[in-house]
Amino acid sequence: MNPMQEVRTRIAPSPTGMLHLGTARTALFCWAFARHHGGKFILRIEDTDLERSTEQAVQVIFESMRWLELDYDEGPVRQTERLPRYRDVLEQMLADGRAYRCYSSKEELEALREAQSARGEKPRYDGRWRPENAQGMVPPPGVQPVFRFRNPDDGDVAWNDLVKGPISISNHELDDLVIARSDGMPTYNFAVVVDDADMRISHVMRGEEHINNTPRQINLYRALGWTPPAFGHLPLILAPDGSKLSKRHGAVSVMQYEADGFLPEALFNYLARLGWSHGDEEKFTRDQLVQWFDLQHVNRAPAQYNLDKLMWLNGEYIKEADNARLAQLISLRVEAKGGRVSGGPPLVDVVALMKDRARTLNELADSALLFYREPELSGAALGEHVNQSGRAVLEAFRERANALTWDRAALNGAIRQIVSDLKLKMPQVAVPLRVAVTGQTQTPSIDAVLELFGRETTLARIDATLSATEFP
Ligand code: GLU
Repeated sequence: MNPMQEVRTRIAPSPTGMLHLGTARTALFCWAFARHHGGKFILRIEDTDLERSTEQAVQVIFESMRWLELDYDEGPVRQTERLPRYRDVLEQMLADGRAYRCYSSKEELEALREAQSARGEKPRYDGRWRPENAQGMVPPPGVQPVFRFRNPDDGDVAWNDLVKGPISISNHELDDLVIARSDGMPTYNFAVVVDDADMRISHVMRGEEHINNTPRQINLYRALGWTPPAFGHLPLILAPDGSKLSKRHGAVSVMQYEADGFLPEALFNYLARLGWSHGDEEKFTRDQLVQWFDLQHVNRAPAQYNLDKLMWLNGEYIKEADNARLAQLISLRVEAKGGRVSGGPPLVDVVALMKDRARTLNELADSALLFYREPELSGAALGEHVNQSGRAVLEAFRERANALTWDRAALNGAIRQIVSDLKLKMPQVAVPLRVAVTGQTQTPSIDAVLELFGRETTLARIDATLSATEFP
């Protein structure tokens, strides 16, 4: 690359569904590389496959990029807005013989493939409609031709892959690629070259599954007299069992991670480490990534997806996240689980108490729920945990409660006093209180929990438990 050349990278998703984790990881690398070099990052929507592209999927791409804060400097450019441009380039190529019309029917191509396979040859289009071969051939009536690129017959296509190192493919391996369909719609390999050239993309980074397309694209650049960008192919993301990551292994859609209770900064950090490293650093900020990101440390080997590690990282980000933000993020989740947030203590205080144990926002919402729904006091739980000694604890607490300043320290003092007065162990006091007030045997520190519930709710629930366990 010319040192004066501006770094320009792009992500070019096809809007045919969700934004896949792998595409998000590619976007993140392209973004970090551009930011590191003070360059530009561009979003392009590859929507020429009209049957599979949907507007909804376009919106999901925008939403996912926004959620991960992968801000782009140019775009979104939609390929369907650029159809006249592809047509122009195709016209020029047809005019000077770099492309030609091919009238072979599907059946004919199928027969060709079978014959080649039977001879033990690699199936490839044989160039029968190349201008020099088609002289005197009459296009079959009613057949709309496709448009093929006249690939060079000899020589090699070589590039120094930014990730994989030098790669070279012989042109004997390549056949004449279809660059536009019979309706004139460009194919991926053609549109991508015109776009990357027009958008002056300096570094094309994409998933390894595109590696076979690269020599074809380089040939197109050469035929058009354009300089190819640098190419880098990122390793696959594999599931823990070594197969390609798919839905079977958990969420693969970016927005599903949002729904599953991940913080965007945690997923961002996790994706950055998926196939790239900076020493032993596991947790780092966006700014650090921008500062450190380089292509030398992109792994050549496939990356392995590990949900436990992502959960751990998410838990770390939850611990340091602002409580008001977390409260806002879990409020609807608590309601969706049947809690009534307006009917309990301030969610921000509950978050402060609970967040250290949560690995996801959904876990945090689950634990917060305790404060926002009526306890379910099953007869069995009451019988087991609020026996005679338990009732004595509740009564003792009841007696002291009115005189207490309702804060954690005073509550703690009162509970300790009951432990000593009734000659019990701490759990023998804490568990009946927990069961009476929350319906659960395990909660964070009971004094903190009671403080949050407040005097009124605590006492009402203790009274209800006492009357429910009264002997007839
Ligand atoms: N639309 C292609 C994809 O989503 C883009 C590949 C590329 O970056 O060239 O896989």
